[in-house]
Amino acid sequence: MKPSASSPPIVALSAYERNGEPFSLAPEYAGAVCRAGGLPVLFPPQCPGGLDFIQRCDALLLTGGGDISPDLYGAAADESTHAVHPDRDAAEIALARAAIAQGLPLLGICRGMQILNVALGGTLHLDLPTTVGTHVCHRSTSHTPVLHNVEILAGTTLARILQNNQVRISSWHHQGIAVLAPALRVSAQAADGVIEAVEIPENPDVLAVQWHPEHTYADDPAQQALFHWLVERARQGWARRSDRNSGQPDTVAQPGEERR
Ligand code: MN
Repeated sequence: MKPSASSPPIVALSAYERNGEPFSLAPEYAGAVCRAGGLPVLFPPQCPGGLDFIQRCDALLLTGGGDISPDLYGAAADESTHAVHPDRDAAEIALARAAIAQGLPLLGICRGMQILNVALGGTLHLDLPTTVGTHVCHRSTSHTPVLHNVEILAGTTLARILQNNQVRISSWHHQGIAVLAPALRVSAQAADGVIEAVEIPENPDVLAVQWHPEHTYADDPAQQALFHWLVERARQGWARRSDRNSGQPDTVAQPGEERR
């Protein structure tokens, strides 16, 4: 069934093993997508049908969580490595690549930004306090997120969405991008130089942030704007795809038709 223009775009959210459940997700992700006018659906990483699934969705949101297996970017685990789930890594890397190949809008959040970087050939810092230092606190030792400022780079998709050159964000990560994937460019950074957002130049459908907009969207229109961007790009993608489909000639040969 074709969606009508007023139907909510379907936004795939990557769920994961969490709090003892085989798959689960913090409710704020779905709340922010709903508020933006999207219809959130969860994808469990144990399910093998990711590529079929993504073809039926209108956008992909890669969520936060534990560490990506270091062997996926040529590193070895150390004592800081935690909550590695190889099934989840494989499922999300496949989803990210499929979404980009199909022209679906993609928003990566925290680990989701790291997955995007690894999926496209980049590497990660195993532990920021060890490699970059503690000038900026990116993860508090208590179990509450910390706020820090990020600088938004002019001329980027992110700057256009946030309409600002600096925003205050909610941070909860101990890893970060080390070598940026060749296809990506930096669109935000912290005062210590840590990469806080990336996008693909000339592709207005791919954006990822190292912070957690779902923590503060309810009170911060700039953070909610990221979810609105995702849902709006999904709507525009529908229009593009249905134009393309309706413009295609019927290629099925009729009985008796001569092929040349
Ligand atoms: Mn940070």
